[in-house]
Amino acid sequence: MNRIFADLPNTIFDVMSQAARDLNAINLGQGFPDDPGPLDIREKAADAVLNGYNQYPSMMGLPELRQAVAAHYAHWHGVQLDAMSEVMVTSGATEALTGSILGLVEPGDEVLVFQPMYDCYVPIIRAAGGVPKFLRLEPPDWRLPEEAIRAAITPKTKYVILNNPLNPAAVVYPREDLEMLGRICQEFDLIAICDEVWEHVVFDGRAHIPLIAIPGMRERTVKVGSAGKMFGLTGWKVGFVCAAPPILRVLAKTHQFITFTTPPSLQVAVAYGLGKPDEYFLQMRAELARSRDRLRAGLSALGFPVLQSQGTYFLNVDLASLGLNETDEAFCKRLVHDHRVAAIPVSAFYEENHVTSVVRFCFSKKDATLDEALERLSRVVRK
Ligand code: PMP
Ligand code: GLN
Repeated sequence: MNRIFADLPNTIFDVMSQAARDLNAINLGQGFPDDPGPLDIREKAADAVLNGYNQYPSMMGLPELRQAVAAHYAHWHGVQLDAMSEVMVTSGATEALTGSILGLVEPGDEVLVFQPMYDCYVPIIRAAGGVPKFLRLEPPDWRLPEEAIRAAITPKTKYVILNNPLNPAAVVYPREDLEMLGRICQEFDLIAICDEVWEHVVFDGRAHIPLIAIPGMRERTVKVGSAGKMFGLTGWKVGFVCAAPPILRVLAKTHQFITFTTPPSLQVAVAYGLGKPDEYFLQMRAELARSRDRLRAGLSALGFPVLQSQGTYFLNVDLASLGLNETDEAFCKRLVHDHRVAAIPVSAFYEENHVTSVVRFCFSKKDATLDEALERLSRVVRK
């Protein structure tokens, strides 16, 4: 057995969702909306299943979806990508990230990863024979630490993985941090694998800046996106990976043996969705920001110190000052068992030097769901 995988715990997202199902709890853990998603996009998919082509689509993805991805990024970010040589469709961002790491990292290569980090990166880096080098981001701002990054780089360092907007910290990185990282990538000849699944889920007028658009990064960035987060259809698992042709050619080789293709009906519907008018995306942001504000106001009123949420579906509270004398993990266990609200302990996003006082709540839920969760949470602080 491969110990890298055999020794892993079950992913915290599944553990908490299973606990929520078993205990009939409100699930503010795993990040997904509790509405069915845009009707027009689902109708496109249904029509494509009934009346469209349901055999293997082309390995790189339907041309219409690859063109829609290129057009979407040109429109939203001013990034010019060639749909045929620089865009590939994958079965979710998870596949895009796995394929990117397996295709690029060679045994002994060092890969910089920022903690808190999404849980799928490190096991795959290790499976590729790579060595993750952890950098720690600090609450409450979680900014990229230039000195620590420079100090971590050795002649073996080849890649950096950046998640922006950052799950779970809910930060949208400013241009300054991205330019700094871009300069470092160029100075030390690093390729950045950039997980941008939350690119459309940004609030308060913020704009997501893709790393690939930073000067000098066009040829050394792998940009990963996901329709799941763009349209609130997290179960669809339609992802995209964009990179300069010499990189994408290699990623096509891993993709062809991981999943090979992605359901064509969903690709047709996502291509349609990407062309929706700006108002759709702006309205989605406004509605999510409203839910964020509702949960934030409720949590603050209960006395939870709430960290800022600039993007993603998530809001974090820092338990440190509450004097509860328990870790985030213990708090989340108690919360789901005794009060039937599931949340995610942020320590699960660390491999070493864990931050153990922060708990993540997902707010992409109906008002009534958030209100009921707040009611239950009020009993936690009252005890
Ligand atoms: N990266 C991050 C940061 C995520 O939050 C998620 C899931 N929400 C993924 C990757 C996986 O995306 P997908 O469901 O498209 O595989
Ligand atoms: N990205 C989702 C989250 O952070 C979970 C996805 C998953 O369950 N793997 O909650």
